[in-house]
Amino acid sequence: SGPGRPPAARPRVRTDLDGLPLFRGRAAEPGTIGLDCNESPFAPPAAVQAALSGAVQGLNRYPDNSSADLTARLAERHGVPPATVCLGPGSVGLCVQLIQITCAAGDEVIVPWRSFEVYPSLAGTAGAVVRRVPLTSGHALDLPAMAAAISDRTRLVFVCSPNNPTGTSVSRSAVERFLAEVPPDVLVVLDEAYAEFTEQEADPLDGFGLVRDLLRQGRTNVVALRTFSKAYGLAGLRIGYCLSAPPVAELLGRVAVPYAVGTLAQRAAVAALDCEREVRERCRHLTEERERVRAALLDAGWDVPVSGANFLWLAAGSAAEAFAAHCREQRILVRAFPGEGVRVTVGADTENDAFLAAAARFAPIDA
Ligand code: PMP
Repeated sequence: SGPGRPPAARPRVRTDLDGLPLFRGRAAEPGTIGLDCNESPFAPPAAVQAALSGAVQGLNRYPDNSSADLTARLAERHGVPPATVCLGPGSVGLCVQLIQITCAAGDEVIVPWRSFEVYPSLAGTAGAVVRRVPLTSGHALDLPAMAAAISDRTRLVFVCSPNNPTGTSVSRSAVERFLAEVPPDVLVVLDEAYAEFTEQEADPLDGFGLVRDLLRQGRTNVVALRTFSKAYGLAGLRIGYCLSAPPVAELLGRVAVPYAVGTLAQRAAVAALDCEREVRERCRHLTEERERVRAALLDAGWDVPVSGANFLWLAAGSAAEAFAAHCREQRILVRAFPGEGVRVTVGADTENDAFLAAAARFAPIDA
């Protein structure tokens, strides 16, 4: 310490971070059925595993920081220029970057609530103020209310569809009406982490298609976000991607952690895109299972909104924690949101059977 300066008891770290929740994520619990993290129950396809083993030899080298092969494949797949595609270490990594390029302390981020819990905590790390807009009574995003919440300080809005944890989707036309209300200097992120599970629906959003069309019309304040963690079953590799106007994509590149997307993640993602048919078949199977589980829960009297994702929301209210504790006793992990509900991932058929059997044995406290 300099002259006259008492030694600090601890480093001068930011004190505004003290209130931020600590993200705990999954704690490894062998012998349990994990239906709490919206993962795929399927191991990566054999071709993906082979691509991974083939890439191990080159791991003494840094990855391709521009992810050129994968970017080209994604651009081709979605019919967009490569300059509009960015890769990130999971789509949460891209959420961090999107906040970094838009928000300084005191700026506002609008999120639907309840939605993906990471949005408010990441916004908090930038010192941004989070405005939470309640869902409708049907557990869906209230886009008109979100548009009305935009102020002069708003820099970023997250639209999550299907919404985590309620599974509800918004339609393309609803998003178009919403975007018509958003000023051009506010960036809107369409988080489509679960998009591949809605393709069977009558009016799926396809935010990538929408953002592609809007970019062609010259609109620059929209971003669509996807991930390889869910439908593609690569959660352990941490890789996501987004589509944005080239100036936004360039800024995302400037704030990116160098070499954040590793070689194995890039190779596996390319190989997974080669297995599109298998991935689609798996998604189709999971959506069938989702409907089977939902029908059984509805029969048992639970309030379960229509889901477009690989999970279901049990609007369990005050019974949420007791229900999750009951499932845990049967060695099944589900995610409780105290006082609100329980989110249960659609797993393998036998896992879903085990969950339904456990649910059938639950006696609500207030019953
Ligand atoms: N967005 C939403 C809505 C999510 O539910 C998740 C994962 N739970 C993510 C993004 C992050 O996914 P990843 O970082 O694994 O790509």
